[in-house]
Amino acid sequence: MVNVGAHVSISGGIYKAVPREKKIGGSCGQIFSHSPRSWKFEVPSKKSAQKFQKENRKANIKPFVIHESYLTNLATPKDKLYKKSLHSTQKELDTARRIGIRYVNIHPGAHTGTGKKSGIDRLATALNSLEGLEDVSILIENTSGGGTKIGYNFRQLAEIIDKVEINVGITLDTCHLFCSGYDIATENGLNKTLKEFERVIGLDKLKLIHLNDSKHGLNSKKDVHEHIGIGKIGEEGMYRIINDHRLKNLPFILETPEDGKGDDKRNIQKVKKLSNEND
Ligand code: ZN
Ligand code: MN
Ligand code: MN
Repeated sequence: MVNVGAHVSISGGIYKAVPREKKIGGSCGQIFSHSPRSWKFEVPSKKSAQKFQKENRKANIKPFVIHESYLTNLATPKDKLYKKSLHSTQKELDTARRIGIRYVNIHPGAHTGTGKKSGIDRLATALNSLEGLEDVSILIENTSGGGTKIGYNFRQLAEIIDKVEINVGITLDTCHLFCSGYDIATENGLNKTLKEFERVIGLDKLKLIHLNDSKHGLNSKKDVHEHIGIGKIGEEGMYRIINDHRLKNLPFILETPEDGKGDDKRNIQKVKKLSNEND
């Protein structure tokens, strides 16, 4: 059975994400641990963490992933923002450990003018200073390549991995891949992309797929997610991604739009329908 879920809200309490995920048919899932546009958040209390763990012992959503907030930038040259970002990332890890979540997904950040090398160095230094990574791992997500963001190609991701001493994994976001120029919509392009990933990084590092279709075209650098099958990657493209022998056993987490009620459930059902693993 394909392992698929969607990013869900924690509104009303972090533990509420668990039944929410279950209700839309997810077997894996993702949350923000707090409002992603705010710096202010506390690691959940023991009680609240226990509630989450209790719910998830029943629901068994695996893996559950925390997606880091949008404000952090560990590649920034600005010391104040860097320190704030580092502190925030550490708190995300502490939250994950406390509620029994295995992964924290981060964006590699933006160098804002100092160059890729400087951005990668900053990020690596930050990651090397994190603590408590025994039961929790950082996943670094590939980016769409807009602005001065780093991590939009496999070479850069490999450079980051080379420079960090901690054990990190990679999340590949299919929309980001496509709009940064990897043509995963075609059979040849998907093959070429995964072969390059295997050569430059190694498939053992790939832990998670953010499965999103793309509103804009190949290499557009415009990161707008679309419902599964109706974007520029399209239904056939999605079919090949979901069933690729190198990918089909990975968790697929959707970050598709919520234009109306029931969209997440529909997108999850769509993935299950496209999967050959279903019986
Ligand atoms: Zn992301
Ligand atoms: Mn993503
Ligand atoms: Mn995106």
